[in-house]
Amino acid sequence: MITPFVFSFSLFALFIALLYVFLVKRSQVTLKLKQLELQSFYEKEKEMLDRIINAASDTLLCLDHDKKVLFMNKKGEEMTGWKVEEVIGKAFCREVIRVRDSKGHLICHSDCPLEKACTLASREAVCEGMLLTKNGAQAWAELRYSALVDSKGHLSFGILTLRDISQFKKAEHMRLQLTSNIVHELRTPLTYIRGYVDLLLMRKVGGLSEDQEKSLRVIRESVFKLIALIDNLLEVARIEEGKFYLRFGSVRLNHLIQKVVDLAKVEADRKNIVLIWEAQDSFPEIYADGKRLEEVLMNLLSNGLKYTHPGGRIEIALGEEDETVSILVADTGIGIAAEYVKGIFERFARLDDVDGNKPGEGAGLGLNIVKRVVEAHGGKVWVESEMGKGSTFYVQIPKRNVA
Ligand code: ADP
Repeated sequence: MITPFVFSFSLFALFIALLYVFLVKRSQVTLKLKQLELQSFYEKEKEMLDRIINAASDTLLCLDHDKKVLFMNKKGEEMTGWKVEEVIGKAFCREVIRVRDSKGHLICHSDCPLEKACTLASREAVCEGMLLTKNGAQAWAELRYSALVDSKGHLSFGILTLRDISQFKKAEHMRLQLTSNIVHELRTPLTYIRGYVDLLLMRKVGGLSEDQEKSLRVIRESVFKLIALIDNLLEVARIEEGKFYLRFGSVRLNHLIQKVVDLAKVEADRKNIVLIWEAQDSFPEIYADGKRLEEVLMNLLSNGLKYTHPGGRIEIALGEEDETVSILVADTGIGIAAEYVKGIFERFARLDDVDGNKPGEGAGLGLNIVKRVVEAHGGKVWVESEMGKGSTFYVQIPKRNVA
């Protein structure tokens, strides 16, 4: 016999059980619906992201801590010649592509840009190189590396973009070629003018009045300046085309400086500028390109003479450190404003003088050539300067002692 109490309790329990089942089922259904919703949202987002990444005009790659490929977009197939599924898990710079710099050295092997990026505050490195694809095709590429590092500064992930710059390189090559052809064509008539002016000044063609001689000397000086300017332009064009080589040999820096100081002495005396140089006869011979270093020193010294007022001083000193040798050229000239110091070694960098006047002669190429020559020796050049007090240029090159 079921008592009403037991009956109502059973009903109540049944009701609770049904309610529980209903609620559980409903939350399961809601969860499932949410999952489906999320999945479709995620798929849509992924599809959109894939479409964006694959529509990019640059190759985009993601590398792991071993520089193995985790991801590559579709553009990468075109640039590297590899299918996306083929490159996943491959060591990028050893198995996928080869990139050589303008001298033909393998970039990744000599100086891995991704490793370099890890050490920089910006965590970024950029370089250019000739990319060799899977099928042997070559293309100029700009490579941009971004490094994501762990707490110890080691590489966690690398993001790399490759941009095909072949067209740009071709146009640049044509521009350089055109410039050097034009400049070359300009040099030939100037050489004739110089030759004939010399003949006239030597009175090989007839006598000269004092005024005529004076005028001819002005012409001669201007022609010399033009030829020097043209030679600088040709030099920069050669450097940019990669046709710039050093001829290493044993160099006595002490003698080299003495020679340049002797050459500069005439102009220094004319401007009443004191040259201070203490010869160091026992300075060791080094292995370098003497002609180029002479050019560097001549540039620095003639700038010193150009930008120092009469009555000033220019000191030249030679120093030896553990691994390097250094040359210092310090003047008491007009100085360089702090905001220009950084860009002074760039091409065509010329500054207004202290009084705000336009700069004198010169095309702003000398210091750029200095920088390129010093860097080609594996060295560096920099300047410290104070407006109105003077500038000190430092050249430091690795010591390669002559055995
Ligand atoms: P430029 O042939 O015009 O002198 P450079 O490349 O040799 O070209 O120098 C670039 C600019 O740097 C110069 O125009 C000048 O404004 C500045 N400069 C170079 N050397 C000195 C110096 N010793 N003192 C002050 N300014 C200098």
